[in-house]
Amino acid sequence: MSENDAPYSSSWESYSLEGFDGGTFNKEGAAAGWPEVFAHLRPACPNCKRILTEADLERAQ
Ligand SMILES: [Zn+2]
Repeated sequence: MSENDAPYSSSWESYSLEGFDGGTFNKEGAAAGWPEVFAHLRPACPNCKRILTEADLERAQ
């Protein structure tokens, strides 16, 4: 094995929402859909603590 072999070549998806109150979510294998990511992260507005939706994040970007 050469040192160029990536040890993390298996598909790991890591989700985090920096700037929001929420956790991180890691999923091995198939990509998680946004509904699943949101179910785990439960992102909230740092100001008013309202739970954000997928639409809220799309608007923020
Ligand atoms: Zn807010």
